[in-house]
Amino acid sequence: MSETLIRNAAHVLTMDDGACEYADTDILVRDGVIAEIGSNLATVGEIVEARGCLVTPGLVNTHHHLYQTLTRAVPGGQDALLFGWLKTLYPIWARFGPAEMRVSALTGLAELALSGCTLTSDHLYLFPNGARLDDTIDAAREIGLRFHPTRGAMSIGESAGGLPPDGLVEEERAILDDCIRVIDAFHDPKQGAMVRVGVAPCSPFSVSRELMRDAAILARDKGVMLHTHLAENDEDIAYSLSQFGCRPGQYAEDLGWTGADVWHAHCVKLDGQEIDLFTKTGTGVAHCPCSNCRLGSGIAPVRAMRDAGVKVGLGVDGSASNDAGSLVAEARQAMLLQRVAQGADAMSAREALRIATRGGAEVLGRDECGQIAPGYRADLAIWDVSGIESAGSWDPAALLLAGPTCVRDLFVEGRQIVRDGEIATLDLPVVIEEQTRMARALAEAS
Ligand SMILES: [Zn+2]
Repeated sequence: MSETLIRNAAHVLTMDDGACEYADTDILVRDGVIAEIGSNLATVGEIVEARGCLVTPGLVNTHHHLYQTLTRAVPGGQDALLFGWLKTLYPIWARFGPAEMRVSALTGLAELALSGCTLTSDHLYLFPNGARLDDTIDAAREIGLRFHPTRGAMSIGESAGGLPPDGLVEEERAILDDCIRVIDAFHDPKQGAMVRVGVAPCSPFSVSRELMRDAAILARDKGVMLHTHLAENDEDIAYSLSQFGCRPGQYAEDLGWTGADVWHAHCVKLDGQEIDLFTKTGTGVAHCPCSNCRLGSGIAPVRAMRDAGVKVGLGVDGSASNDAGSLVAEARQAMLLQRVAQGADAMSAREALRIATRGGAEVLGRDECGQIAPGYRADLAIWDVSGIESAGSWDPAALLLAGPTCVRDLFVEGRQIVRDGEIATLDLPVVIEEQTRMARALAEAS
């Protein structure tokens, strides 16, 4: 039996059904699970003093392309719209291999952890030079984050009228075979699982109708989730109307891409009918406000989605279109962006944080995560609210209004991943040095 007692937390935001908040409270963690919440709790294990700290559930990231941490702020992609941005970056990504996938994933995962994230998905859809999903799974195991890697894919290259260069696309049979391989090798359906695999063709404009349909059949056969990009911007809608003769929501529905086991990234351009479809089917949304701003895609109708009962989580999206990977910053951006569209009362700091924690857990089908209550997994973020960013705050639990923006400590399944603001599970300076060297080599070759 292993125990940790988080003692004397100044504030606890539970995100439970009653949205309970506690002051001066202890949280006892036993064998990866929250055992008890209360005062003057005792332990035989380690004690973590949390005086002057806010404790929240770990944040959940529902959309990322970790490999893109190696292509942040690429000059040719800094000011382009989605399709032009992709065309600038594809040739650079084509030079990646297994080492680049692993190191870029470690960098992105460490950045997420420092910003309070305990569970993240990843959408890897290109596998050049022997790269595999396995490379990112190795990285997640090394740092200790709960990980939902999705096996992405592109199958329609330039010569077939698609956007990606032919060298980055795969045969559809090989894609499905590799999906089966990684699900069988890594997917864990049990409560408390550290790795769950999903199936995730990149987008309706980079794979065929048949692959979308077959991917859905395969995922249901294997009991895993489905993920892709949908309705990201006006170009995306125009493409759907001209190529498929329908809007993205209809296309998704026709091919089996709605349901509680499906979540779509962006959904900036969903209309009222599509929102109703998502509500009715339990389909989830990964809202990526920084990427949507960065690429000028628009403001996703998150207020309308939430009011209609759509499951919404947050995603930092890839680091080539953010270009940061801070999940707490993403939550603040989500709050601000709804206010830009709908006024200052459109989304509170607490609601945005709820979307960032429990909302994401629901989107990823992890109902045992995302809240602080007995029996839930011990994925916890501890924020020191005694420093400069919160100095003078009347409500330190309104974390997204006044910082901090980095955690002091982070626990995943009861294991400490961040300690006193530093990654405890790996030598981060070594990772950063390797990452910097690789980014420079890629720039020199471009
Ligand atoms: Zn994306």
